[in-house]
Amino acid sequence: MGEERRGDVGHESKNPYYEGKKYKEPTFCPSCELVYHEGRWVDTSKPEDKNAKEALCPACRRRRDKNPEGLVYLSGSYFDEHKEEILHIAKNSAERAKETRPLQQIMWAEEESETLELATTNEHLARRIGKAIARAHDGDLEIKSGESERRVRVYWVRED
Ligand SMILES: [Zn+2]
Repeated sequence: MGEERRGDVGHESKNPYYEGKKYKEPTFCPSCELVYHEGRWVDTSKPEDKNAKEALCPACRRRRDKNPEGLVYLSGSYFDEHKEEILHIAKNSAERAKETRPLQQIMWAEEESETLELATTNEHLARRIGKAIARAHDGDLEIKSGESERRVRVYWVRED
């Protein structure tokens, strides 16, 4: 297959969120309506096939379990003043990722003690969001991947 490799997403086949897990085709995710087709989850119309299976896709499993693979923390007084613009960049990054990688989604955006936390279903999306924000607004970007857990934390801060 000449298609782009899916990076190192999920070598661990025991990982319940493994994006390369095989499903019967077609399988329909009742939550986000992605369809498992030709070996991957795609954004397409619901299969008419009456034998189509239903199963939560890896992204919806993470959503259900509140178990993000990526976390992005945004803070600083500059962030406070430009919150809308910056969140727009984050949403744009997710929209663009979704065109080719529909399993890469933002799970939530929550603000707590002046830090906004964005949770993503996929570590690559978290990195991508952090880099896009730093490219457009400078600031300090730090990306930390856990040694024992498969999760990446992206910190972006700009004070002024
Ligand atoms: Zn889904």
